[in-house]
Amino acid sequence: MPTCPKCGTEVSEPIKVWELAPKGRKPVKIGLFKCPNCGTTFRKGVK
Ligand SMILES: [Zn+2]
Repeated sequence: MPTCPKCGTEVSEPIKVWELAPKGRKPVKIGLFKCPNCGTTFRKGVK
């Protein structure tokens, strides 16, 4: 489970997910997470 880089709170659900597909590489899914504790938003790869 991704954790907030600021306070370390675990965030279970991304508020947004999109696919990033660099040329010639496998697409990866990126999730945008928002920490319910401190409000920090951060991106993290999701599987
Ligand atoms: Zn936080």
